[in-house]
Amino acid sequence: MKILVTGGAGFIGSAVVRHIIENTSDSVVNLDCLTYAGNLESLALVEGNARYAFEQVNICNRTELDRVLTQHQPDVVMHLAAESHVDRSITGPAAFIETNIVGTYTLLEAVREYWNKLDNMAKQTFRFHHISTDEVYGDLPHPDEVEFVSDIPMFLETTPYAPSSPYSASKASSDHLVRAWQRTYGLPTIVTNCSNNYGPYHFPEKLIPLVILNALEGKDLPIYGKGDQIRDWLFVEDHARALYKVVTEGKVGETYNIGGHNEKKNLEVVQTICLILDELVPKASAYADQITYVQDRPGHDRRYAIDSSKIQRQLGWIPIETFESGLRKTVEWYLANSVWCQNVQNGSYQRERLGINA
Ligand code: NAD
Repeated sequence: MKILVTGGAGFIGSAVVRHIIENTSDSVVNLDCLTYAGNLESLALVEGNARYAFEQVNICNRTELDRVLTQHQPDVVMHLAAESHVDRSITGPAAFIETNIVGTYTLLEAVREYWNKLDNMAKQTFRFHHISTDEVYGDLPHPDEVEFVSDIPMFLETTPYAPSSPYSASKASSDHLVRAWQRTYGLPTIVTNCSNNYGPYHFPEKLIPLVILNALEGKDLPIYGKGDQIRDWLFVEDHARALYKVVTEGKVGETYNIGGHNEKKNLEVVQTICLILDELVPKASAYADQITYVQDRPGHDRRYAIDSSKIQRQLGWIPIETFESGLRKTVEWYLANSVWCQNVQNGSYQRERLGINA
């Protein structure tokens, strides 16, 4: 199979590309325009492999999309290219509308034209897999705020959309477009909605890598608000395995929720990182002493939690890493890869606070 992966130089996309090249006999074409979040150094392990090709293309560029599709003739498309950071979407939503909505629309139209010209067999087996987030569902009741445990449900595939941030609203829009292209034009699409990922090669604007690097440099560890917001954490390599299962075995028109069953408060995540660092890189004072409470994010969702029983039941996928084992692996990876960390941060971003000028 030849798989076109969009956003393959990003955090999750690069894990998907590495997973496919290392564990299957499929070929990958990585289509990525290399924004600040895209780094070819994350693909050093597959660079030079005969089954891997890279195309530096923007998903908003229809002419280039048509060229890539005609030239490489993919059997399936896995669409991960996106603007992905909530804080950035608050500071500057335009790029999110452009890439996540207009870009997804442009890609859908290019793929529809390409798909229409395939022979009947290839048309039937073709898939357009759209990778989305649990943030499209908005937030859930928080255990600190409800009287009964039965009042704290999880996101199901049928949960109505109620996005809170410009990021999640733009992802929700793209999900709707993908489903409309399936229903109206018959394009064989599948959507997955996943919880917060963590792991190696994560750009240091996101909570876990930012805290690891700030801790090692003796800087403040910023906690938004009281740090009691809950996220459901999934190790990125478990997500990559799930995505490959969905694109190869999932049913057209279906949605699959993917999650780690690891609900943690942000403060708890940061404290656990501090404890791992106390053990691996001991110093005179505890890393937790660097924790600093800062202004909360505007519109901050209180809790996300994924019910992933559908993908477990229907496709037999379960996460391998526990939060403890995955977090330890992640900290160890950042300790061993300081060169990658320096190189990806050589642009204008210096881990400053974003998203408070709402
Ligand atoms: P990321 O920001 O690390 O990577 C995004 C990649 O897309 C980068 O390589 C970037 O260069 C590329 N890109 C951006 N705009 C582009 C454009 N216009 N044309 C071509 N390429 C472009 O994101 P990520 O964390 O790897 O997330 C990948 C996907 O998974 C996104 O769609 C995101 O919404 C979704 N998702 C992420 C998480 C998470 O926790 N990170 C959770 C669930 C779903």
